[in-house]
Amino acid sequence: MKLHEYQAKALFREAGIPCPADVMVTTADAAVAAAEDMGLPVVIKAQVHVGGRGKAGGVKVVSDSAEVGPTAKTILGLTIKELPVRKLMVAPALNIDKEVYLSILLDRGARKVVFIGCADGGVEIEETAKTNPEAILRHEVSGRELGSLQQSTFMDFASKLFSDPKQAAATADIMVKMGKLFLDKDASLIEINPLITDDKGEVIALDAKMMVDDNALFRHPELEELRDMDSEDKDELDAHEDGLSFIRLDGNIGCMVNGAGLAMATMDTIKHFGGSPANFLDVGGSSDPKKVVAAFKLILKDTNVKAILINIFGGITRCDDIAKGILQSLDELEVPVPIVIRLVGTNEAEGRKLLEGTDLTIALTLEDGATKASKMGGAA
Ligand code: GDP
Ligand code: MN
Repeated sequence: MKLHEYQAKALFREAGIPCPADVMVTTADAAVAAAEDMGLPVVIKAQVHVGGRGKAGGVKVVSDSAEVGPTAKTILGLTIKELPVRKLMVAPALNIDKEVYLSILLDRGARKVVFIGCADGGVEIEETAKTNPEAILRHEVSGRELGSLQQSTFMDFASKLFSDPKQAAATADIMVKMGKLFLDKDASLIEINPLITDDKGEVIALDAKMMVDDNALFRHPELEELRDMDSEDKDELDAHEDGLSFIRLDGNIGCMVNGAGLAMATMDTIKHFGGSPANFLDVGGSSDPKKVVAAFKLILKDTNVKAILINIFGGITRCDDIAKGILQSLDELEVPVPIVIRLVGTNEAEGRKLLEGTDLTIALTLEDGATKASKMGGAA
């Protein structure tokens, strides 16, 4: 789950990481009132779950009080990388002396938590990583160390971001607090881009991006409340309500599978045979035909889908119930694409019998099914 900047900054304040005061507003009038309260200049920032808001016109420093309302209105009218702007953050604008990049994230490859730094901040770090990889600093820590990090450990790293010893010490202190916040909130990323020094030489987090692990939300009700339904994929939320796990992808073969592991294997197998999955979809272990109908609806919403591969390994899930769900779907919905099905396990004979007379393509193995579906999807 992604947090908005204003939400992440509230957590920063609790954790003792310095950042400017701010107010979240949803109307231009409220932005004007907030700016009057805090005094000019202010910075008005779109609150959407994407980076590069500045480049897209979603971050504006305003020094003229007459410009606050119109600027807020303009930003509220923007759509940044397909996300409509519905919330704004208003904060006192700072005079920036230097901008650097600082983050902490989970590095799955290294099986470590890693701090990433770059003296060349503000810009997109991915770009620097490509053009000037030597400029990227890394410091790995183990998950166990996160709660008890020492400022002294980071002095070397921090002084490569800010050579002034006081500023380096402040940065190292921020790193300790980032480590603790990362651990406390089960985060997968905390990114400060830019971390700045202002005209008084203070080190301040000017931007904040934070992601928390969905799987740990059950122990953070306070974070679950921060979920912004407006910014989440509507289909993925609906799927959740219907008891399905669904993630949209950009291929053209719709997948309907029982079990998350089998769903992953199915996607891999499709890829192996030159196809490209349109989604991850786990209908779960139960056998409710209604779930199959809901799954069809989700898959068919995606107009890229050229074929559907249903891969069911019946255990608790009964193949005849899945077959009933498929028949019900064909009855209720218009399914304009071919369906390939592999149905094995509990009640497979009954299931196959139910499907006799339909024009579904039966596959005997996953390889067979993935090959057929991939061909229908246009694979060579
Ligand atoms: P992003 O583009 O989504 O990463 O949004 P940021 O919050 O990082 O803002 C983009 C850029 O706007 C920053 O790198 C700064 O250069 C500039 N900016 C943001 N806040 C301020 C501010 O308070 N004062 C000044 N002068 N510039 C700011
Ligand atoms: Mn930024």
